[in-house]
Amino acid sequence: MSGRYGTDQLNRFILIVVMAFLILDLFVRKNILLLPGLFLLGVCYFRMFSRNYSARYSENQKYLELKGKVTGKFKKEKYMMSQRKDFHIYTCPSCQQKIRVPRGKGKICVTCPKCHAEFQKKS
Ligand SMILES: [Zn+2]
Repeated sequence: MSGRYGTDQLNRFILIVVMAFLILDLFVRKNILLLPGLFLLGVCYFRMFSRNYSARYSENQKYLELKGKVTGKFKKEKYMMSQRKDFHIYTCPSCQQKIRVPRGKGKICVTCPKCHAEFQKKS
């Protein structure tokens, strides 16, 4: 393997997809997923034995960037869900700024931190 690119995060992801395809193929039994699975396995081997480090590295960087965007979105959504348990999220009627207000405080007067508009809400 000396001089070869070896494996990286993208290759590991491709292998997981290949495994999923092959396992699903056992249940479908029409070999629809077998060919794409074997093709992806070929891609995986090609990347592993490639001597073109810079191309494989940039592919991996693109994959990591995309993965970061997707997981970042999920993390943000998870954070918002945890916030909704303890806070109400209102939008300011005049400037659309999102305002976080603690729950269970009764009827309160909310002052927008951005435009200082006041409005009443039940928390
Ligand atoms: Zn405002």
